[in-house]
Amino acid sequence: MAHRQSLLQYIARANVHRSGIAAAVFSSLLLLFAAASAPAQQFDLVLAGGRVMDPETGLDAVRNVGVSGGKIVRIATEPLDGTHVIDARGLVVAPGFIDLHQHGQGLDSQRLKALDGVTTALEMEIGVPDVAEFLREKQGHSLINYGTTASHVAARALAFDAPLSADVEATAPKIGLPNILPKSGPATDQPATPEQIAKMQQRLRAELDAGALGVGMGIQYTPGATRLEVIDIFRVAAERRLPVYTHLRSFGRIEPGSAIEALEEVIAASAITGAPVHVAHINSTCARDSLECLAIVDGARAHGLDITTEAYPYIAGMTVVNSAQFEGNWRERLGIDYGDLVLPATGEHLMQKRFEELHASPTPQSVLVFANTQQLVDAVIPYPGVMIASDGALGHPRNAGTYSRVLAEYVREKKTLTLIEALRKMTLLPAQMLERSTPAARKKGRVQEGADADIVVFDPATITDRATFQKPMEPSVGVRYLVVRGTVLVDQGKIVEGTFPGRAIVGPEKVGDRGR
Ligand SMILES: [Zn+2]
Repeated sequence: MAHRQSLLQYIARANVHRSGIAAAVFSSLLLLFAAASAPAQQFDLVLAGGRVMDPETGLDAVRNVGVSGGKIVRIATEPLDGTHVIDARGLVVAPGFIDLHQHGQGLDSQRLKALDGVTTALEMEIGVPDVAEFLREKQGHSLINYGTTASHVAARALAFDAPLSADVEATAPKIGLPNILPKSGPATDQPATPEQIAKMQQRLRAELDAGALGVGMGIQYTPGATRLEVIDIFRVAAERRLPVYTHLRSFGRIEPGSAIEALEEVIAASAITGAPVHVAHINSTCARDSLECLAIVDGARAHGLDITTEAYPYIAGMTVVNSAQFEGNWRERLGIDYGDLVLPATGEHLMQKRFEELHASPTPQSVLVFANTQQLVDAVIPYPGVMIASDGALGHPRNAGTYSRVLAEYVREKKTLTLIEALRKMTLLPAQMLERSTPAARKKGRVQEGADADIVVFDPATITDRATFQKPMEPSVGVRYLVVRGTVLVDQGKIVEGTFPGRAIVGPEKVGDRGR
Protein backbone atom coordinates (compact mmCIF):
# COMPACT_ATOMS: atom_id res chain seq x y z
CA MET A 1 0.00 0.00 0.00
CA ALA A 2 2.81 2.38 1.00
CA HIS A 3 4.55 1.51 -2.23
CA ARG A 4 1.43 2.39 -4.25
CA GLN A 5 1.06 5.64 -2.40
CA SER A 6 4.58 6.74 -3.16
CA LEU A 7 4.11 5.78 -6.81
CA LEU A 8 0.98 7.90 -6.85
CA GLN A 9 2.84 10.83 -5.36
CA TYR A 10 5.60 10.40 -7.90
CA ILE A 11 3.07 10.43 -10.74
CA ALA A 12 1.32 13.46 -9.27
CA ARG A 13 4.62 15.34 -9.13
CA ALA A 14 5.67 14.16 -12.56
CA ASN A 15 2.32 15.19 -14.07
CA VAL A 16 2.99 18.81 -13.31
CA HIS A 17 5.74 18.77 -15.91
CA ARG A 18 4.35 16.32 -18.39
CA SER A 19 1.84 16.49 -21.20
CA GLY A 20 -1.73 15.15 -20.75
CA ILE A 21 -0.87 12.11 -22.86
CA ALA A 22 2.08 11.11 -20.71
CA ALA A 23 -0.09 11.59 -17.63
CA ALA A 24 -2.76 9.34 -19.10
CA VAL A 25 -0.17 6.63 -19.80
CA PHE A 26 1.15 6.82 -16.25
CA SER A 27 -2.38 6.71 -14.81
CA SER A 28 -3.13 3.63 -16.91
CA LEU A 29 0.04 1.95 -15.68
CA LEU A 30 -1.02 2.69 -12.13
CA LEU A 31 -4.43 1.13 -12.76
CA LEU A 32 -2.81 -1.98 -14.26
CA PHE A 33 -0.51 -2.20 -11.27
CA ALA A 34 -3.47 -1.92 -8.89
CA ALA A 35 -5.45 -4.55 -10.83
CA ALA A 36 -2.55 -7.00 -10.95
CA SER A 37 -1.96 -6.84 -7.21
CA ALA A 38 -5.65 -6.81 -6.19
CA PRO A 39 -7.32 -10.03 -4.98
CA ALA A 40 -9.61 -11.83 -7.48
CA GLN A 41 -12.76 -9.80 -7.89
CA GLN A 42 -16.21 -11.19 -7.16
CA PHE A 43 -18.76 -9.89 -9.69
CA ASP A 44 -22.52 -9.64 -9.14
CA LEU A 45 -23.06 -11.54 -12.35
CA VAL A 46 -20.82 -13.40 -14.79
CA LEU A 47 -21.82 -14.43 -18.31
CA ALA A 48 -19.40 -17.25 -18.88
CA GLY A 49 -18.00 -18.55 -22.15
CA GLY A 50 -20.35 -16.88 -24.62
CA ARG A 51 -19.52 -15.56 -28.08
CA VAL A 52 -19.23 -11.87 -27.20
CA MET A 53 -20.05 -9.58 -30.11
CA ASP A 54 -19.56 -5.82 -30.00
CA PRO A 55 -20.24 -3.96 -33.25
CA GLU A 56 -18.22 -0.87 -32.27
CA THR A 57 -14.91 -2.60 -31.55
CA GLY A 58 -15.57 -5.55 -33.84
CA LEU A 59 -14.96 -7.98 -30.97
CA ASP A 60 -16.33 -11.41 -31.90
CA ALA A 61 -14.73 -13.99 -29.62
CA VAL A 62 -15.40 -16.25 -26.67
CA ARG A 63 -15.10 -14.20 -23.49
CA ASN A 64 -16.28 -14.03 -19.89
CA VAL A 65 -18.22 -10.92 -18.96
CA GLY A 66 -18.21 -9.64 -15.35
CA VAL A 67 -21.05 -7.35 -14.28
CA SER A 68 -21.27 -5.37 -11.03
CA GLY A 69 -23.35 -2.37 -9.98
CA GLY A 70 -25.28 -2.37 -13.25
CA LYS A 71 -22.11 -1.97 -15.33
CA ILE A 72 -19.94 -4.25 -17.42
CA VAL A 73 -16.76 -4.21 -15.36
CA ARG A 74 -14.62 -6.86 -16.99
CA ILE A 75 -14.44 -8.73 -20.31
CA ALA A 76 -11.78 -11.41 -20.10
CA THR A 77 -10.49 -14.67 -21.51
CA GLU A 78 -9.69 -16.00 -18.02
CA PRO A 79 -12.46 -17.35 -15.75
CA LEU A 80 -14.28 -14.77 -13.58
CA ASP A 81 -15.90 -15.28 -10.18
CA GLY A 82 -19.53 -14.29 -9.87
CA THR A 83 -22.21 -14.40 -7.19
CA HIS A 84 -24.48 -15.48 -10.04
CA VAL A 85 -22.96 -17.24 -13.05
CA ILE A 86 -24.77 -17.82 -16.33
CA ASP A 87 -23.40 -20.46 -18.67
CA ALA A 88 -23.43 -18.71 -22.04
CA ARG A 89 -21.51 -21.36 -23.97
CA GLY A 90 -22.83 -21.75 -27.51
CA LEU A 91 -24.79 -18.50 -27.20
CA VAL A 92 -24.19 -14.99 -28.53
CA VAL A 93 -23.64 -12.28 -25.91
CA ALA A 94 -24.49 -8.93 -27.50
CA PRO A 95 -25.61 -5.44 -26.46
CA GLY A 96 -29.33 -5.42 -25.66
CA PHE A 97 -31.34 -4.15 -28.61
CA ILE A 98 -32.36 -0.48 -28.61
CA ASP A 99 -35.74 0.22 -30.19
CA LEU A 100 -36.12 3.91 -31.03
CA HIS A 101 -39.71 3.45 -32.12
CA GLN A 102 -42.00 1.78 -29.59
CA HIS A 103 -45.53 3.02 -29.03
CA GLY A 104 -46.81 0.23 -26.77
CA GLN A 105 -45.24 1.17 -23.44
CA GLY A 106 -47.34 -1.06 -21.17
CA LEU A 107 -46.05 -4.18 -19.43
CA ASP A 108 -47.77 -6.52 -21.93
CA SER A 109 -45.71 -4.95 -24.74
CA GLN A 110 -42.57 -4.79 -22.63
CA ARG A 111 -42.70 -8.54 -21.93
CA LEU A 112 -42.80 -9.21 -25.67
CA LYS A 113 -39.96 -6.76 -26.28
CA ALA A 114 -37.79 -8.40 -23.59
CA LEU A 115 -38.30 -11.84 -25.16
CA ASP A 116 -37.32 -10.27 -28.50
CA GLY A 117 -33.98 -9.09 -27.00
CA VAL A 118 -34.87 -5.44 -26.44
CA THR A 119 -33.44 -3.74 -23.33
CA THR A 120 -34.43 -0.17 -24.29
CA ALA A 121 -37.66 0.84 -26.06
CA LEU A 122 -38.32 4.53 -26.65
CA GLU A 123 -41.33 6.47 -27.95
CA MET A 124 -39.49 8.80 -30.33
CA GLU A 125 -41.59 9.03 -33.50
CA ILE A 126 -44.59 10.85 -32.04
CA GLY A 127 -43.66 11.38 -28.38
CA VAL A 128 -46.04 11.26 -25.43
CA PRO A 129 -48.54 14.01 -24.55
CA ASP A 130 -47.00 14.70 -21.12
CA VAL A 131 -43.33 13.88 -20.60
CA ALA A 132 -43.22 14.45 -16.83
CA GLU A 133 -46.27 12.26 -16.26
CA PHE A 134 -44.84 9.54 -18.52
CA LEU A 135 -41.54 9.49 -16.62
CA ARG A 136 -43.32 9.53 -13.25
CA GLU A 137 -45.61 6.65 -14.15
CA LYS A 138 -42.82 4.46 -15.46
CA GLN A 139 -40.32 5.01 -12.67
CA GLY A 140 -39.91 1.73 -10.81
CA HIS A 141 -42.56 0.03 -12.96
CA SER A 142 -40.69 -0.64 -16.17
CA LEU A 143 -39.15 -3.92 -17.26
CA ILE A 144 -36.85 -2.25 -19.79
CA ASN A 145 -35.34 1.20 -20.27
CA TYR A 146 -37.67 3.90 -21.56
CA GLY A 147 -37.72 7.48 -22.80
CA THR A 148 -39.58 9.77 -25.16
CA THR A 149 -39.52 12.81 -27.37
CA ALA A 150 -41.68 15.92 -26.87
CA SER A 151 -44.79 15.57 -29.01
CA HIS A 152 -45.55 18.21 -31.63
CA VAL A 153 -48.90 16.49 -32.27
CA ALA A 154 -49.85 16.96 -28.60
CA ALA A 155 -48.44 20.50 -28.40
CA ARG A 156 -50.54 21.38 -31.45
CA ALA A 157 -53.67 19.89 -29.90
CA LEU A 158 -53.01 21.99 -26.80
CA ALA A 159 -52.54 25.15 -28.87
CA PHE A 160 -55.93 24.44 -30.46
CA ASP A 161 -57.52 23.74 -27.06
CA ALA A 162 -58.12 20.10 -28.03
CA PRO A 163 -55.67 18.29 -25.75
CA LEU A 164 -55.31 14.54 -25.81
CA SER A 165 -56.96 14.02 -22.47
CA ALA A 166 -55.58 11.50 -20.02
CA ASP A 167 -58.99 9.93 -19.44
CA VAL A 168 -59.22 8.89 -23.09
CA GLU A 169 -56.44 6.47 -22.13
CA ALA A 170 -58.90 4.51 -20.01
CA THR A 171 -61.30 4.15 -22.93
CA ALA A 172 -58.56 3.53 -25.51
CA PRO A 173 -58.79 0.09 -27.08
CA LYS A 174 -56.48 -2.58 -25.71
CA ILE A 175 -55.26 -3.42 -29.19
CA GLY A 176 -53.53 -0.81 -31.28
CA LEU A 177 -51.76 2.45 -30.74
CA PRO A 178 -51.97 4.11 -27.33
CA ASN A 179 -53.58 7.50 -27.05
CA ILE A 180 -50.91 9.58 -28.76
CA LEU A 181 -52.75 10.65 -31.94
CA PRO A 182 -55.78 12.92 -31.99
CA LYS A 183 -58.91 12.22 -33.96
CA SER A 184 -58.79 14.36 -37.08
CA GLY A 185 -60.39 17.77 -36.62
CA PRO A 186 -59.42 21.45 -36.49
CA ALA A 187 -56.36 20.71 -34.30
CA THR A 188 -54.95 18.41 -36.97
CA ASP A 189 -56.31 19.94 -40.16
CA GLN A 190 -56.25 23.73 -39.78
CA PRO A 191 -53.21 25.94 -40.24
CA ALA A 192 -52.03 27.47 -36.98
CA THR A 193 -51.78 31.20 -36.31
CA PRO A 194 -48.37 32.64 -35.39
CA GLU A 195 -49.63 32.83 -31.79
CA GLN A 196 -50.57 29.15 -31.85
CA ILE A 197 -47.16 28.22 -33.26
CA ALA A 198 -45.52 30.24 -30.47
CA LYS A 199 -47.67 28.33 -27.96
CA MET A 200 -46.52 25.01 -29.44
CA GLN A 201 -42.89 26.10 -29.22
CA GLN A 202 -43.35 27.12 -25.60
CA ARG A 203 -44.95 23.78 -24.77
CA LEU A 204 -42.18 21.84 -26.54
CA ARG A 205 -39.47 23.76 -24.67
CA ALA A 206 -41.18 22.86 -21.38
CA GLU A 207 -41.37 19.21 -22.47
CA LEU A 208 -37.66 19.24 -23.32
CA ASP A 209 -37.00 20.72 -19.87
CA ALA A 210 -38.96 17.79 -18.42
CA GLY A 211 -36.55 15.27 -19.96
CA ALA A 212 -37.62 14.67 -23.57
CA LEU A 213 -34.88 13.39 -25.88
CA GLY A 214 -35.83 15.56 -28.87
CA VAL A 215 -38.98 16.52 -30.73
CA GLY A 216 -41.35 13.98 -32.31
CA MET A 217 -43.39 15.06 -35.33
CA GLY A 218 -46.12 12.93 -36.91
CA ILE A 219 -46.60 15.38 -39.75
CA GLN A 220 -49.02 13.12 -41.63
CA TYR A 221 -51.28 13.27 -38.57
CA THR A 222 -51.30 17.09 -38.58
CA PRO A 223 -51.80 17.97 -42.26
CA GLY A 224 -52.81 21.51 -41.24
CA ALA A 225 -49.18 22.20 -40.29
CA THR A 226 -47.66 24.46 -42.94
CA ARG A 227 -44.09 24.13 -44.19
CA LEU A 228 -43.26 27.15 -42.04
CA GLU A 229 -44.74 25.55 -38.92
CA VAL A 230 -42.56 22.51 -39.51
CA ILE A 231 -39.46 24.73 -39.76
CA ASP A 232 -40.49 26.62 -36.61
CA ILE A 233 -40.78 23.35 -34.71
CA PHE A 234 -37.38 22.16 -36.00
CA ARG A 235 -36.02 25.47 -34.65
CA VAL A 236 -37.01 24.48 -31.10
CA ALA A 237 -35.00 21.26 -31.40
CA ALA A 238 -32.10 23.14 -32.98
CA GLU A 239 -31.96 25.62 -30.04
CA ARG A 240 -31.09 22.68 -27.79
CA ARG A 241 -29.00 20.88 -30.42
CA LEU A 242 -31.49 18.02 -30.28
CA PRO A 243 -32.87 15.90 -33.12
CA VAL A 244 -36.34 15.77 -34.64
CA TYR A 245 -37.85 12.31 -35.12
CA THR A 246 -40.49 12.31 -37.78
CA HIS A 247 -43.26 10.43 -39.51
CA LEU A 248 -43.26 12.18 -42.91
CA ARG A 249 -46.16 14.25 -44.20
CA SER A 250 -47.29 11.80 -46.86
CA PHE A 251 -46.58 8.63 -48.76
CA GLY A 252 -47.45 7.66 -52.29
CA ARG A 253 -46.33 8.82 -55.71
CA ILE A 254 -48.81 11.50 -56.70
CA GLU A 255 -47.38 15.03 -56.90
CA PRO A 256 -47.68 17.26 -55.05
CA GLY A 257 -47.70 15.22 -51.87
CA SER A 258 -45.42 12.33 -52.80
CA ALA A 259 -43.19 10.53 -50.30
CA ILE A 260 -40.21 12.08 -52.08
CA GLU A 261 -41.58 15.57 -51.50
CA ALA A 262 -42.33 14.72 -47.87
CA LEU A 263 -38.75 13.53 -47.38
CA GLU A 264 -37.42 16.69 -49.03
CA GLU A 265 -39.48 18.75 -46.60
CA VAL A 266 -37.73 17.40 -43.50
CA ILE A 267 -34.30 17.41 -45.16
CA ALA A 268 -34.83 21.07 -45.98
CA ALA A 269 -36.02 21.84 -42.44
CA SER A 270 -32.91 20.13 -41.07
CA ALA A 271 -30.63 22.05 -43.44
CA ILE A 272 -32.33 25.35 -42.58
CA THR A 273 -32.28 24.90 -38.80
CA GLY A 274 -29.36 22.58 -38.11
CA ALA A 275 -31.48 20.08 -36.15
CA PRO A 276 -30.60 16.46 -36.99
CA VAL A 277 -33.56 14.50 -38.37
CA HIS A 278 -34.48 10.84 -38.03
CA VAL A 279 -37.04 9.47 -40.52
CA ALA A 280 -39.27 6.80 -38.99
CA HIS A 281 -40.01 3.50 -40.82
CA ILE A 282 -38.73 4.37 -44.30
CA ASN A 283 -40.13 1.03 -45.47
CA SER A 284 -43.72 2.07 -44.83
CA THR A 285 -43.37 5.80 -45.34
CA CYS A 286 -41.73 5.53 -48.77
CA ALA A 287 -43.28 2.15 -49.68
CA ARG A 288 -42.57 1.44 -53.35
CA ASP A 289 -40.06 4.30 -53.47
CA SER A 290 -38.05 3.14 -50.46
CA LEU A 291 -34.82 2.67 -52.39
CA GLU A 292 -35.13 6.10 -53.99
CA CYS A 293 -35.73 7.54 -50.52
CA LEU A 294 -32.66 5.76 -49.16
CA ALA A 295 -30.57 7.18 -52.02
CA ILE A 296 -31.86 10.65 -51.10
CA VAL A 297 -30.91 10.11 -47.44
CA ASP A 298 -27.44 8.97 -48.55
CA GLY A 299 -27.11 12.05 -50.76
CA ALA A 300 -28.08 14.43 -47.96
CA ARG A 301 -25.64 12.72 -45.59
CA ALA A 302 -22.86 12.87 -48.17
CA HIS A 303 -23.38 16.62 -48.30
CA GLY A 304 -23.06 17.08 -44.57
CA LEU A 305 -26.59 16.75 -43.21
CA ASP A 306 -27.28 14.71 -40.09
CA ILE A 307 -30.11 12.46 -41.26
CA THR A 308 -30.81 8.86 -40.28
CA THR A 309 -33.56 6.31 -40.79
CA GLU A 310 -34.97 2.94 -39.70
CA ALA A 311 -37.18 0.10 -40.89
CA TYR A 312 -39.16 -2.90 -39.62
CA PRO A 313 -39.35 -6.29 -41.36
CA TYR A 314 -43.08 -6.56 -42.19
CA ILE A 315 -45.11 -5.80 -45.29
CA ALA A 316 -47.97 -4.12 -43.41
CA GLY A 317 -48.04 -1.04 -41.22
CA MET A 318 -50.56 -0.09 -38.56
CA THR A 319 -52.20 3.22 -37.82
CA VAL A 320 -55.42 4.77 -36.58
CA VAL A 321 -58.33 4.72 -39.05
CA ASN A 322 -59.89 7.86 -37.54
CA SER A 323 -56.72 9.88 -38.21
CA ALA A 324 -56.22 12.64 -40.74
CA GLN A 325 -54.19 10.24 -42.89
CA PHE A 326 -57.46 8.82 -44.25
CA GLU A 327 -59.05 12.00 -45.51
CA GLY A 328 -60.00 13.14 -49.01
CA ASN A 329 -58.57 11.12 -51.88
CA TRP A 330 -56.44 8.90 -49.62
CA ARG A 331 -56.91 5.81 -51.82
CA GLU A 332 -55.45 7.61 -54.81
CA ARG A 333 -52.75 9.39 -52.79
CA LEU A 334 -51.58 6.34 -50.87
CA GLY A 335 -52.06 3.85 -53.71
CA ILE A 336 -54.09 1.48 -51.53
CA ASP A 337 -57.78 0.54 -51.26
CA TYR A 338 -60.34 -0.25 -48.57
CA GLY A 339 -59.49 -3.96 -48.68
CA ASP A 340 -55.84 -3.23 -47.81
CA LEU A 341 -57.05 -2.06 -44.39
CA VAL A 342 -57.50 -4.90 -41.91
CA LEU A 343 -58.77 -4.82 -38.33
CA PRO A 344 -56.09 -6.43 -36.15
CA ALA A 345 -58.48 -7.98 -33.63
CA THR A 346 -60.67 -9.84 -36.14
CA GLY A 347 -58.76 -9.94 -39.45
CA GLU A 348 -61.69 -8.17 -41.12
CA HIS A 349 -60.78 -6.49 -44.43
CA LEU A 350 -62.64 -3.17 -44.61
CA MET A 351 -65.16 -2.22 -47.24
CA GLN A 352 -66.24 1.33 -48.02
CA LYS A 353 -69.25 1.42 -45.70
CA ARG A 354 -67.37 -0.06 -42.75
CA PHE A 355 -64.40 2.24 -43.34
CA GLU A 356 -66.60 5.34 -43.35
CA GLU A 357 -68.31 4.29 -40.15
CA LEU A 358 -64.99 3.69 -38.36
CA HIS A 359 -63.31 6.81 -39.76
CA ALA A 360 -66.17 8.99 -38.47
CA SER A 361 -66.28 7.35 -35.04
CA PRO A 362 -64.72 9.23 -32.08
CA THR A 363 -63.31 5.93 -30.72
CA PRO A 364 -59.73 5.41 -31.89
CA GLN A 365 -59.56 2.26 -34.02
CA SER A 366 -56.27 0.80 -35.23
CA VAL A 367 -55.98 -0.78 -38.67
CA LEU A 368 -53.29 -2.80 -40.34
CA VAL A 369 -52.31 -1.22 -43.68
CA PHE A 370 -51.01 -3.64 -46.33
CA ALA A 371 -49.03 -1.32 -48.60
CA ASN A 372 -45.61 -2.94 -49.09
CA THR A 373 -44.12 -5.86 -50.99
CA GLN A 374 -41.83 -8.54 -49.58
CA GLN A 375 -39.24 -7.75 -52.24
CA LEU A 376 -39.06 -4.17 -51.10
CA VAL A 377 -38.77 -5.01 -47.41
CA ASP A 378 -36.03 -7.51 -48.29
CA ALA A 379 -34.06 -4.74 -49.97
CA VAL A 380 -34.52 -2.18 -47.19
CA ILE A 381 -33.59 -4.25 -44.11
CA PRO A 382 -29.97 -5.03 -45.15
CA TYR A 383 -29.41 -1.53 -46.59
CA PRO A 384 -26.30 -0.02 -44.94
CA GLY A 385 -27.06 2.50 -42.20
CA VAL A 386 -30.75 1.59 -41.87
CA MET A 387 -31.49 0.92 -38.18
CA ILE A 388 -33.95 -1.71 -37.05
CA ALA A 389 -36.89 -0.22 -35.12
CA SER A 390 -40.23 -1.89 -34.53
CA ASP A 391 -42.95 0.81 -34.46
CA GLY A 392 -44.42 -1.65 -31.96
CA ALA A 393 -47.91 -1.59 -30.49
CA LEU A 394 -50.35 -4.31 -29.50
CA GLY A 395 -52.10 -5.85 -32.50
CA HIS A 396 -49.16 -5.94 -34.93
CA PRO A 397 -46.59 -8.77 -34.93
CA ARG A 398 -43.76 -6.21 -35.19
CA ASN A 399 -44.37 -5.46 -31.51
CA ALA A 400 -43.22 -8.94 -30.55
CA GLY A 401 -41.07 -10.18 -33.41
CA THR A 402 -39.09 -7.44 -35.16
CA TYR A 403 -35.61 -8.25 -33.86
CA SER A 404 -35.82 -12.03 -33.89
CA ARG A 405 -37.33 -11.86 -37.35
CA VAL A 406 -34.36 -9.93 -38.72
CA LEU A 407 -31.95 -12.41 -37.12
CA ALA A 408 -33.89 -15.42 -38.39
CA GLU A 409 -34.86 -14.23 -41.88
CA TYR A 410 -32.01 -12.01 -43.00
CA VAL A 411 -29.02 -13.38 -41.07
CA ARG A 412 -29.79 -17.09 -40.88
CA GLU A 413 -32.05 -17.83 -43.86
CA LYS A 414 -31.58 -15.26 -46.63
CA LYS A 415 -28.00 -14.49 -45.50
CA THR A 416 -28.26 -10.91 -46.75
CA LEU A 417 -26.92 -9.58 -43.44
CA THR A 418 -23.98 -10.78 -41.37
CA LEU A 419 -24.71 -11.25 -37.69
CA ILE A 420 -22.44 -8.40 -36.62
CA GLU A 421 -24.03 -6.04 -39.18
CA ALA A 422 -27.51 -6.96 -37.97
CA LEU A 423 -26.41 -6.31 -34.38
CA ARG A 424 -24.95 -2.95 -35.43
CA LYS A 425 -28.37 -1.93 -36.79
CA MET A 426 -30.04 -2.98 -33.50
CA THR A 427 -27.53 -1.64 -30.97
CA LEU A 428 -24.69 0.68 -31.94
CA LEU A 429 -26.50 2.77 -34.58
CA PRO A 430 -29.49 3.59 -32.34
CA ALA A 431 -27.12 4.26 -29.39
CA GLN A 432 -25.16 6.69 -31.56
CA MET A 433 -28.45 8.31 -32.57
CA LEU A 434 -29.27 8.76 -28.88
CA GLU A 435 -25.86 10.32 -28.24
CA ARG A 436 -27.22 13.38 -30.03
CA SER A 437 -29.60 13.71 -27.05
CA THR A 438 -27.61 12.51 -24.05
CA PRO A 439 -24.01 11.54 -23.29
CA ALA A 440 -25.44 8.67 -21.20
CA ALA A 441 -26.09 6.88 -24.50
CA ARG A 442 -22.33 6.38 -24.94
CA LYS A 443 -22.74 3.62 -22.35
CA LYS A 444 -25.53 1.97 -24.36
CA GLY A 445 -25.39 -0.37 -27.33
CA ARG A 446 -21.96 -1.72 -26.42
CA VAL A 447 -20.55 -4.78 -24.72
CA GLN A 448 -17.45 -3.04 -23.42
CA GLU A 449 -15.87 -2.49 -20.02
CA GLY A 450 -17.55 0.57 -18.48
CA ALA A 451 -20.75 0.22 -20.53
CA ASP A 452 -24.17 -0.22 -18.93
CA ALA A 453 -24.95 -3.91 -18.44
CA ASP A 454 -27.84 -4.07 -20.92
CA ILE A 455 -27.11 -7.42 -22.54
CA VAL A 456 -28.95 -10.01 -24.62
CA VAL A 457 -27.83 -13.65 -24.66
CA PHE A 458 -29.42 -15.58 -27.52
CA ASP A 459 -29.06 -18.76 -29.54
CA PRO A 460 -28.20 -17.72 -33.10
CA ALA A 461 -29.24 -21.13 -34.44
CA THR A 462 -32.79 -21.01 -33.11
CA ILE A 463 -33.79 -17.39 -32.52
CA THR A 464 -37.10 -16.90 -34.35
CA ASP A 465 -40.14 -14.65 -34.30
CA ARG A 466 -43.46 -16.40 -33.78
CA ALA A 467 -45.90 -13.49 -33.88
CA THR A 468 -48.10 -13.30 -36.98
CA PHE A 469 -50.85 -10.97 -38.18
CA GLN A 470 -53.31 -13.58 -36.86
CA LYS A 471 -51.45 -14.13 -33.56
CA PRO A 472 -49.52 -10.93 -32.84
CA MET A 473 -48.96 -11.70 -29.14
CA GLU A 474 -46.81 -14.82 -29.68
CA PRO A 475 -43.42 -14.12 -28.08
CA SER A 476 -40.20 -14.77 -29.96
CA VAL A 477 -38.04 -17.75 -29.01
CA GLY A 478 -34.27 -17.96 -28.74
CA VAL A 479 -33.51 -15.17 -26.29
CA ARG A 480 -32.18 -17.19 -23.36
CA TYR A 481 -31.15 -14.36 -21.04
CA LEU A 482 -31.71 -10.66 -20.94
CA VAL A 483 -29.86 -8.39 -18.54
CA VAL A 484 -31.15 -4.85 -17.92
CA ARG A 485 -28.84 -2.56 -15.94
CA GLY A 486 -27.19 -5.60 -14.43
CA THR A 487 -30.45 -7.32 -13.41
CA VAL A 488 -31.47 -10.60 -15.03
CA LEU A 489 -34.92 -9.99 -16.55
CA VAL A 490 -35.10 -13.06 -18.81
CA ASP A 491 -33.74 -16.26 -17.27
CA GLN A 492 -33.57 -19.42 -19.41
CA GLY A 493 -36.09 -17.95 -21.84
CA LYS A 494 -38.61 -16.87 -19.16
CA ILE A 495 -39.41 -13.44 -17.73
CA VAL A 496 -38.35 -13.11 -14.09
CA GLU A 497 -41.53 -11.89 -12.38
CA GLY A 498 -41.62 -8.95 -9.99
CA THR A 499 -38.45 -7.25 -11.15
CA PHE A 500 -38.49 -3.80 -12.78
CA PRO A 501 -34.93 -2.90 -13.73
CA GLY A 502 -35.86 -0.45 -16.52
CA ARG A 503 -34.54 3.10 -16.10
CA ALA A 504 -35.35 6.38 -17.82
CA ILE A 505 -33.16 7.76 -20.55
CA VAL A 506 -33.67 11.51 -20.46
CA GLY A 507 -32.55 14.55 -22.37
CA PRO A 508 -29.83 17.02 -21.41
CA GLU A 509 -32.02 19.46 -19.50
CA LYS A 510 -33.13 16.80 -17.05
CA VAL A 511 -29.61 15.38 -16.77
CA GLY A 512 -28.46 18.92 -15.89
CA ASP A 513 -31.13 19.19 -13.19
CA ARG A 514 -29.87 16.08 -11.51
CA GLY A 515 -26.34 17.40 -11.38
CA ARG A 516 -27.45 20.59 -9.63
ZN1 LIG B 1 -45.35 6.24 -38.06
